[in-house]
Amino acid sequence: MNQTFLSAALLPLLAFAVPAVAQSGPSPSERLRDAALGDNVAFDIIEGLTTEVGPRLAGSEAEARARTWAVAKLRALGFRNVHVEEYRMPTWLRGAETAEIVAPFPQRMAVTALGHSGATPPQGITAQIVAFDDLDALKAAPDASVRGKIVFVSHGMRPAQDGSSYGYFGPVRRAAPSIAATKGAAAVVIRSLGTDYHRNPHTGLTSWAEGVSPIPAGALSIPDAENLQRMLARGKPVTMHLVLTPRFVGDQVSGNVVAEVPGSDPGAGILLIGGHLDSWDLGTGAIDDAAGVAITAAAARRIMETGRPRRTIRVVWFGSEEVSGYGSKAYRAAHQAENVVFVAESDFGADRVWRMDPTFAAADKPIVDRIAALLAPLGITVGTQRAEAGADLGAWAKAGVAAIELNQDGTRYFDLHHTPDDTLDKIDPAQLAQNVAAWTAMLSVLAYAREEIHGAPTAP
Ligand SMILES: [Zn+2]
Repeated sequence: MNQTFLSAALLPLLAFAVPAVAQSGPSPSERLRDAALGDNVAFDIIEGLTTEVGPRLAGSEAEARARTWAVAKLRALGFRNVHVEEYRMPTWLRGAETAEIVAPFPQRMAVTALGHSGATPPQGITAQIVAFDDLDALKAAPDASVRGKIVFVSHGMRPAQDGSSYGYFGPVRRAAPSIAATKGAAAVVIRSLGTDYHRNPHTGLTSWAEGVSPIPAGALSIPDAENLQRMLARGKPVTMHLVLTPRFVGDQVSGNVVAEVPGSDPGAGILLIGGHLDSWDLGTGAIDDAAGVAITAAAARRIMETGRPRRTIRVVWFGSEEVSGYGSKAYRAAHQAENVVFVAESDFGADRVWRMDPTFAAADKPIVDRIAALLAPLGITVGTQRAEAGADLGAWAKAGVAAIELNQDGTRYFDLHHTPDDTLDKIDPAQLAQNVAAWTAMLSVLAYAREEIHGAPTAP
């Protein structure tokens, strides 16, 4: 930062400091918002994290390197109280992974293990495929039809702007392996939970019901899943050879990285925002979720440059979101008693924000109205859905802390999500900057509002 930049940055502070008087031209918040459309701090964070660290699977030594990188970066950006809060978590690491059809049409298929998959022996297993069109068909199948076989589950996930297809089809990944295991299956392969036609399998966590021993569970790329369906449609038994050798390595250290823009009025409460620092290990975690940590930090830094806001902005780059959210649970357990008055998370890529969903008490309407007015020129409409504040901050929102969801366009998110294609080149700098502008505008209102923030009804 140079001196010219500093003094220019102080101008908005003066404007914030004086009482609202009739003025011509843009307001301080409008100027901050518009300047953020030229932001390059967020891109710089994503570029740095994906280049200098790369994939950062929860609990791995790469995630630890990411924390070291993050602390140095946040300090260099001028944040205060930058530190790591460690916790321990059960850790799973990927092994070898190959799949091939042995008969009747021998050929290889692109496969990856789902997070928390069990392992085959090193030489793999060979078994007949039994196929299901969806999760309900698997649930209804007699155990005898599944026992000893490799279960294949398909689905019809399609892109949706709001990402809702992930919620609808997600149980195929999260639950099918456990159901197949209880029926005695030897292994599971699912059609990747994604919307692209690249030959990339999508990883992601699966979960095992209480008492169920993990079996090998993988995802086939969508072209391979469709090829397998065509083979099955020809009516002969299809046999697959599958090698998946991931392993659980016990409890390892993970951590959350915390940074602050200190406020001037401790009684006014804390604005708690962030994204997650860990990523899956196939790509470099650019859209999931270097983008989210970058957007939130870049926006908070723009408020920092206005001087000392009324409320503290606390940015948390959470660890281990992808593998059950151990970071968010540890954070909430340690900080639940603090006066957090607002939460928001960015964890849906880097494409433009198109809708905001605010969840506030009725008394907070003037604050919400000011934010909505600032976001409208960015092409952002106001929705009526409850803000869930993402996986990392959702527990706070559910408990009645005010929240805003700045919904990003998810049309292409599940083309890339959890694949080797989640890399820096997929970030559109202009859309990324629109995100920073939206977050900056929102934070400028919340950080300086003289009104109290009352919170929201608790979720049902
Ligand atoms: Zn994510």
